[in-house]
Parts: sequence; C-alpha cells; structure tokens
Amino acid sequence: MICLGIESTAHTFGVGIITSEGKILANARDCYHSVEGMIPNEVKAHHELVKEHVLADALQKAQLTMNDIDLIAFSHGPGLAPCLHVGKNFAENLSKEHNKPLLGVNHCVAHLTIGNLTTGLQDPIYLYVSGVNTQLLVAAHGRFRVLGETLDIGLGNALDKFGRKAGLGFPAGPKMEQQASTGAYVELPYAVKGMDVSFAGIITAAERKIGKIPLPDLCFSLQETCFAMLAEVAERALAHTRKKELLLIGGVAANKRLIQMLAAMSKERVATFAAVPLEYAGDQGVMIAWQGVLEYSHGRRTTPDIHPYERTDEIDTNWINASSTSSSLASSPQEPPDKKAQKSARSPCK
Ligand code: AMP
Ligand code: MG
Repeated sequence: MICLGIESTAHTFGVGIITSEGKILANARDCYHSVEGMIPNEVKAHHELVKEHVLADALQKAQLTMNDIDLIAFSHGPGLAPCLHVGKNFAENLSKEHNKPLLGVNHCVAHLTIGNLTTGLQDPIYLYVSGVNTQLLVAAHGRFRVLGETLDIGLGNALDKFGRKAGLGFPAGPKMEQQASTGAYVELPYAVKGMDVSFAGIITAAERKIGKIPLPDLCFSLQETCFAMLAEVAERALAHTRKKELLLIGGVAANKRLIQMLAAMSKERVATFAAVPLEYAGDQGVMIAWQGVLEYSHGRRTTPDIHPYERTDEIDTNWINASSTSSSLASSPQEPPDKKAQKSARSPCK
C-alpha cells in the first residue's frame, strides 16, 4: 500500500508519501514565515497558494502519479481551524477525484509514530516538544498516556514569543540556537511542578531583560533553563516507568543542545536515547502518511472532519502490539531498575 499524507495544522503545508513497509518516497513542504508570528488567515492563504505545487513536488520526487496512491491521509487536528480546513478540503477533493479512501489522523500522534519508525525505538518515553505542545508520554493500555506536560504554552511557542520581542522573526527557535552558541548564563526562574513544566513566567522574565542583557546570554540561559526542566521530568519518567528508551520528537528536537542534554542524562541512566532525524522533527506530511498506514491497516475509518482541539491521549493505539503496551506501566521487575539496566546496557545514544 502507498499512502499520501497531507499536513496543514499550522505553519507548514506538507505532502509526504510512504509505503506500508515504512519506505519514505517523498517529503515535500512549504513553510509560512513572518516577522509577527502566525496570523491564522494569512497562514491559511499561504496553504491555499502552495498546496498544488507541494503535491506536484511530492509526486514528482516519488516518481508517482495519483493513480499509484492507495490511501490519502490528512491531519484532522489539533491545529488552527482555518489551516485544518485547507488540508481537509484538499484531501477530500483528491479522494473524490481519484476515488481513493480517505482517513483523518491526529497530528500529535503522528509526531510520535514517525519517531518510532525513523529511530527504531519500540516502547520509549516520548518527549514531544513542538510549537504548541510539550508533553511527556508513554504507550500504555491502548493509548498514549500523558505523564507530564506544559501547564501553559508549548516550548516552541514560548521561544517564538521571546524571539518575536527580541526581533528575531518567526520561527525564532533556530535563530535562538545560533545566538546561544556565544552566550553566558544569567539566572532565570525554573518551573517544574511534579511532572509538569511551565514556561510562561520564564519567558516574561527573559523578555524584561531584553536590551539590558546581551541577546546571546538571554538565548543561552533560556535554552539551559527550559531544557534542564525537560531533562528533569524525562529522567523522572524513566525512573518511574522503568523504561529504557527515551525518544525526542517535535520541532524543538532540531536543537543540538537539547539533544546533548538528554543524551547525557540517558547515558547516566543506561537508557537508549534517540532524537527524530531533523527532516522529520518539524511538521511534515510523511508522518501523516505513516499514521494513515498504521490506522487504516488496523481497521480505522473516519468521516472527513476537523478536530482543532483533539488531544494526543484521545486516540486508541490499536496498531501497537497489545502485550508491549498493556505492560507499560503495570510491570514490576523483580530487581531494582538500575541493576537490571546495567545487565542489558545498550548503546547510550544514537
Ligand atoms: P513543530 O510545531 O513541531 O513544527 O515545531 C515548530 C517549533 O520548533 C517552532 O516553535 C520553532 O521555533 C521550534 N524550533 C525549530 N527549530 C528549533 C531549534 N533549532 N531550536 C529550538 N526550537 C526550534
Ligand atoms: Mg507539529
């Protein structure tokens, strides 16, 4: 089976093509950039403008025509409603025109499963850090369960908000990473609450220092503080669940310092760490196509609609091997976890 996936939840209009064996045939996309951030109707207009071109680009890269496609999947949420409508209508029209089955899938779940496919990790703790989302998850009892999450904004949006005030444009994350490379540490608030994190206050504190403290120092300190918070909750999740794999996914997974900190923590815990490859870290259609394959081949059928607020933990994960998920949180190894881990030590970092 060959599946074509359409992504349009936020800044990216993407079309990806993948086989049911997980062979990626094309990943085409066009991203909205601006000085002010995302203005929903402008992002929608961007998607309308580029959609045909992105589709043609994907088909050309894969050396296929629509006749070769067996299934069309689209991202039905969560996301900005005007943008979701573009993807849904485009997918629905293609489905009718070419007489292909159509399936709507959850964007966040697709971020997780493209991580599994591209890294080979089977049953990890997922650290999902994108624009809107910051969540720590594990597959258990037929769902992705949220172990911890942001109490206010996602880390990517938080960095973008600071970057906008600092004149770095949108998206700011990559530019802040560059700035941070020459920065020094200044103290900022640190906000971990149990397994949850909070970024809003840290960003406000950093914004108040703009113009008083060099920008590289602020970028460096924001990264160090926010990434340390994520490493802390991820480590606690590994300890509590006794999992031995940590998988970083989402757009912020592009950040080398975040990868370095999580790799170091995982090494100390003798856990395998992997970050999704850069090309599949941010939004793209390949992950939507792969999620389409997983769900369609396990019997899921949907009526085309949009779900702007659908959460990661609302989706039944019936494609995941039942035995590995049902035991995820319930297992109680006979030995202390650290001793057991030393016996089965894997390579610490991919
Ligand atoms: P997504 O919503 O998954 O496409 O992720 C987009 C978010 O990732 C945006 O908020 C970007 O600012 C952020 N991002 C992208 N690259 C980096 C980076 N190198 N460092 C930090 N954040 C990044
Ligand atoms: Mg995303």
